[in-house]
Amino acid sequence: MTSLESLQFQKRMIESPIGEADRAALVAGGEFGQVFTEHMVTVRWNEQRGWHDGLVEPFGPLRLSPAAAVFHYGQEIFEGMKAFRAADGGINLFRVERNAERFAASARRLAMAEVPAELFRRAVEELVSSDAAWVADHPEGTLYLRPFQIATEPTLGMQPAAAYLFGVIASPVVVNRREAPPMRILISDDHVRAVRGGTGDVKCGGNYAASMPALGRAAEVGCDQVLFLDAAERRFVEELGGMNVFVVYDNGSVCTPPLTGTILPGVTRDSIMRLAADRGARLVERPIEIDELQEAARAGRVTEMFACGTVAVVRGIGSLHGRHGEVVIGDGGTGDLTARLRQELLDIQHGRTPDRHGWISGI
Ligand code: PMP
Repeated sequence: MTSLESLQFQKRMIESPIGEADRAALVAGGEFGQVFTEHMVTVRWNEQRGWHDGLVEPFGPLRLSPAAAVFHYGQEIFEGMKAFRAADGGINLFRVERNAERFAASARRLAMAEVPAELFRRAVEELVSSDAAWVADHPEGTLYLRPFQIATEPTLGMQPAAAYLFGVIASPVVVNRREAPPMRILISDDHVRAVRGGTGDVKCGGNYAASMPALGRAAEVGCDQVLFLDAAERRFVEELGGMNVFVVYDNGSVCTPPLTGTILPGVTRDSIMRLAADRGARLVERPIEIDELQEAARAGRVTEMFACGTVAVVRGIGSLHGRHGEVVIGDGGTGDLTARLRQELLDIQHGRTPDRHGWISGI
């Protein structure tokens, strides 16, 4: 078995065919997740050798057997995180150990081999340092990182696969100083995202596949995202398809649903909770009833609502659309606390304010 300490990443590097100006144009003009950097990292696992064959290689197609278990029984997990251009010109990673822990939790839930946290960090760092030119030299420059793991064993046997591939790819995120406009949210009362005892609290591709019809429905009615409710009663707010949610009431309390096994424990969620608490906000993790929320919003008692996640950071929610019509949140715009928390988090991530919580590691 290869020991982790002796696992070296072999490098098969290519010169970028893209000039600085073209790269900047690609970063600025692209839609999320359409452009990829020159390299990817791959590491293999099997029972005899453990994690082995670490490679930094040109981004490109993987060769897999059509019988690879991932295509049949869906053993696939992933993560989402970012590298940030720092104010001093360096590159920052944000709470990478949290993503490593969540990746390992996802692996356990799907009975896959676990990537040790140290290997996860090294793989991410190898890719970011290889493709550092893609972390735009711009105050808001970021590079989105997508670690993923699939079952590669060619077998139709219905059991945990005996071989895996762990990979990391990277995609520059549009540099945009402007805050995105608040979202219109569709309350989904037919589709649910997760059930107790299911996989809602881990990051496996199947969760996202199953949420796509609801997203399609949202787009049809002019909404940006879907708010999922609990599966048992369709009574409580859970989260959006890819972001956690917070509600700010006029009595000053900032509420978010508790992590009871059906909600993804977002790294941004946890960070926002700490930043809000630092500001002296009354932070409450409690079940939020959808009817109560709509009533409170109609009565003007909800001043702000926002969603948060790695890609969008923090984004305001302007209105909720459900069976009983539309409810506008606050004045329909981005609330003050929403904007301040977003800015505060970005300032920490880009190294513009002191990292009081020890969230940043430099590359
Ligand atoms: N919920 C879901 C379902 C998600 O996919 C994500 C994105 N990973 C989040 C919440 C936010 O998590 P994070 O802040 O770690 O990006």
